[in-house]
Amino acid sequence: MSLHPRARIHTDTIVANWRAIASLAPDGEAGAVVKANAYGHGVGPVARALHQAGCKTFFVAYVEEGAALRDAIGSAADILVFNGAEQEDRALIQKAGLVPVINSLPALRDWLSHDDTVPYAVHLDTGMNRLGIRPEDVPELMDLSSAHPPAHVMSHLVDSDVPSNPLNARQRSEFRDLSASFTAARKSFANTGGCYLGHTYGFDITRPGIGLYGGGPTPPETVTIRPGMTLEAPILTVQHVAAGETAGYGAEWTFATPRTLATVALGYGDGFPRSAGNRGYASLGGQRCPIVGRVSMDLITIDVTSAQALAKPGAFAQFIGAEVPLEDQAKRAGTVGYELVTGLGDRVRRIYE
Ligand SMILES: *Cc1c(COP(=O)(O)O)cnc(C)c1O
Repeated sequence: MSLHPRARIHTDTIVANWRAIASLAPDGEAGAVVKANAYGHGVGPVARALHQAGCKTFFVAYVEEGAALRDAIGSAADILVFNGAEQEDRALIQKAGLVPVINSLPALRDWLSHDDTVPYAVHLDTGMNRLGIRPEDVPELMDLSSAHPPAHVMSHLVDSDVPSNPLNARQRSEFRDLSASFTAARKSFANTGGCYLGHTYGFDITRPGIGLYGGGPTPPETVTIRPGMTLEAPILTVQHVAAGETAGYGAEWTFATPRTLATVALGYGDGFPRSAGNRGYASLGGQRCPIVGRVSMDLITIDVTSAQALAKPGAFAQFIGAEVPLEDQAKRAGTVGYELVTGLGDRVRRIYE
């Protein structure tokens, strides 16, 4: 019996989600964003499954993530590194065959001053004001890069989760105009939310991340996205409490009626947010079991009164999965699915199915 929290990773589902999102932009190629250890799902198994399914372009944030990914999938795929590269990364970039995304004019000058053979990408800022070369600097970019133009040009949507925001279409047309000058470059624009906005957001390569893992904004009706992981915690003990008793640190939760409680092995030390205390829930055999009291470092207590027959030490309660939608749990903890899955630590055993 393993009394550790575990995340069962559904690589087939992640591939199915990728295919479903890819079908929204059939004229382009669907890439896959696998930064932050494939959003906590495990970059090796996830990227290998996607690569086998035909994914040819991957995106990570750091050079080191790219190098680990290269080891996992071999040479036959493009790997782009969002946060760019310093001169000191050059050897690893070349060895691992990575494509750095250059995010500013100074970084581009620096990159081109040392080498003119390594392919690179350029990020154009169409409104995020975070990373990327601003529209007014594009003439200088063209000038600088004329001898060695970028292989990819990309931009990033500010508010793709909100389809009604007119900024989406404005960014799209700005990107279309700015990127048109780079005739040889492949164009990439849409994250998951962008893919959901329609095929005109697709350009040459899409960059879905969170949707592959079952989170993010609601997809269009034609697309079904399922959870990429099932996060489960084993029951350690079951106890019966009387009306008027309290649960856990700070005695924050007082029971109005007699209840049955289960204490499970999962806590903020595993990356499960403390802010889910008194708000989040687990599922036991499909029955909703609210978190009662605070989330401790290694433990959470849930009210299993509605699922007494299943509440036995060693049984697993679900905290993310088909019965507990990622974004629902995240919202109760005051966060988003992205933070919830990327925050899960190494104590959560990943099991690949
Ligand atoms: C993380 C990231 C993505 C993926 O976004 P999702 O919302 O997870 O689909 C795409 N593009 C860039 C530049 C990113 O940083």
